[in-house]
Amino acid sequence: MQLYNTLSAKEREELIEQANQERLTISFYKYAHIGNPQIFRNHLFIHWNELDVLGRIYVAHEGINAQLSVPAPNFEAFKKHLDSISFLENVRLNIAIEQDNKSFLKLKVKVRKKIVADGLNDRSFDVTNKGVHVNAEEFNRLIDDPDTILVDMRNHYESEIGHFQNAITPDVDTFRDSLDIIEKDLAAHKEDKKLVMYCTGGIRCEKASAYYKHKGFKQVYQLEGGIIEYARQVQQLKLENKFKGKNFVFDHRRSERISEDVISHCHQCGEPCDTHVNCANEACHLLFIQCESCAEKMDQCCSDNCKEINALPYEEQKKLRKGKEASNKIFKKGRSEVLKFKR
Ligand SMILES: [Zn+2]
Ligand SMILES: [Zn+2]
Repeated sequence: MQLYNTLSAKEREELIEQANQERLTISFYKYAHIGNPQIFRNHLFIHWNELDVLGRIYVAHEGINAQLSVPAPNFEAFKKHLDSISFLENVRLNIAIEQDNKSFLKLKVKVRKKIVADGLNDRSFDVTNKGVHVNAEEFNRLIDDPDTILVDMRNHYESEIGHFQNAITPDVDTFRDSLDIIEKDLAAHKEDKKLVMYCTGGIRCEKASAYYKHKGFKQVYQLEGGIIEYARQVQQLKLENKFKGKNFVFDHRRSERISEDVISHCHQCGEPCDTHVNCANEACHLLFIQCESCAEKMDQCCSDNCKEINALPYEEQKKLRKGKEASNKIFKKGRSEVLKFKR
């Protein structure tokens, strides 16, 4: 029985092209008690592999967090399978508004300690005592209220290319850091202000809202389904869109455009730009914002040094990397001294 991905990204890409089928990029999560994550993981892999599902799925005792793509003709079968799992029946699926058949090229279902690396000790507070979930329309009304403080629960490189008007966007590398910074900054308003939060797809707010209630915030709200679902509701219900720019996502697309505004700048020349790339030097792989003309000038590298290395024959590059940590496996989060125009 096949329990793991066997095709390379390249082979998969060719198959997707040959199939010439539309694929849907979908994400969902659910906190639920899973007794044996390994057995559950195998069950998912077997069924989803049959349906040609691709993606990155985390399973833990605390639940499931899934980002994936499904061939459109298999969507009904996929949905039926989800509904056959008691705690996933009618789970809200966040469907991407910008589709890309190659958003994922492998099916990876992994067992983890947690479904989000949140750095929290869940036993120190009641994770089920969450904030009030609001939809796009309620959210728009709430953030117009002068008694509201709106906070972005994502990291700096995410909010940099897009965020809600008037949101506090902490300059942080991790979720854990933002929790403390926000609590400290808003300590005087635990009673009198409405704390309204959002993230990409809603999962980070599930924990954050419970954490802030535990810390004494009296009125805590969270955007249901995050920016992905907000954008869908705005489009479908013709609501006012209060999100500016792009929504950073964690697949090959890297982002979805939500409004035409370009709110960030190329990290190399400072021109308006909101396209994230990874440095072409495999040993670097730094995530940063690069405009087309800088990409051409720099051969898609972050620095002259990386450009030089990237120009070497592949075997030479491999020799240089020998003995060093495989840094292309590390997700470098858009910070480097070589980026002159990083805010
Ligand atoms: Zn540039
Ligand atoms: Zn580089």
